[in-house]
Amino acid sequence: MREQLAKIKSQAAVAVQEAGDLNQLNEVRVKFLGKKGELTQVLRGMGGLSAAERPIIGQLANEVREFLEQQLEDKQAVLKEGAKARQLAAETIDITLPGRPVLLGKRHPLTTVLDEIKTIFLGLGFEIEEGPEVETDYYNFEALNLPKEHPARDMQDSFYITAETLLRTHTSPVQPRTMEKKAPQVPVKVIAPGKVYRRDDDATHSPMFHQVEGFIIDKNISFSDLKGTLLTFSRQMFGEDREIRLRPSFFPFTEPSAEVDISCIMCHGKGCRVCSGTGWLEILGSGMIHPRVLSMSGYDPQEVTGFAFGMGVERITMLKYGIDDLRLLFENDLRFLGQF
Ligand SMILES: [Zn+2]
Repeated sequence: MREQLAKIKSQAAVAVQEAGDLNQLNEVRVKFLGKKGELTQVLRGMGGLSAAERPIIGQLANEVREFLEQQLEDKQAVLKEGAKARQLAAETIDITLPGRPVLLGKRHPLTTVLDEIKTIFLGLGFEIEEGPEVETDYYNFEALNLPKEHPARDMQDSFYITAETLLRTHTSPVQPRTMEKKAPQVPVKVIAPGKVYRRDDDATHSPMFHQVEGFIIDKNISFSDLKGTLLTFSRQMFGEDREIRLRPSFFPFTEPSAEVDISCIMCHGKGCRVCSGTGWLEILGSGMIHPRVLSMSGYDPQEVTGFAFGMGVERITMLKYGIDDLRLLFENDLRFLGQF
């Protein structure tokens, strides 16, 4: 048994020295020290020894095991060092190579235009109010003078969630919500930007789009205040040489109502393809707040008056940048977005 141990010791020492990498070294460990390894087999045979021999052989076997473990550990350290050196050599950085450009994100044109609209109205003393996108039938329609049987209430146009809730079809419900909160306090000068939803999807309509609603309530607000405010907005948004034109229109929540056109930003009124030869571009709808809308939300139409307007942010963005297809604003094609 002594001879066996001596042989294992010398064979194992050679095998350790010859191991060229960590895998081979591990094989050596298993061959001699593993569960079925050679040294383990010898120790198992100790049961056949006499009581006098057993401790002597046992101690010797332990010495061999400790010797081998130390050898394995030393060699492992050497091999690891080598592997690290090779890895470092492979990872050497060539600092003369040109860097990879980092692509910076850009603001979406809709965000830019929405911020511009907000900035202009904040400058005119308006406050920003927001409302829920999931709206009740009451605020979306009834409080805006659109009772249940009203013909202008097109069910086909709306995303209903339950019989009484829907995705708001315009930002106008923020108007009665704000009025209920503030009545009978005046003046109220508010814009309400946000997302709205309708069941359209083609080159000129998206099922989700953005609007900015705006309104003022105070004593002696007149139609000329409406015109002056929208002229100021149009000039700040589209250039100081803009003119505006109001055309009679109809909305259930305003009386009288008007569509607002600006002089064409391409041809300055001469007539071109963009304005279909008219010289004018429609940008928003507006009017004096209907007395019923005022009274339903707690204001006395004998005491105060107001005007309201609503614009599509997509429409303004397309006019401002000359974009001819609405879908470009929602496809997130980086070639398109990179131009802004
Ligand atoms: Zn034109």
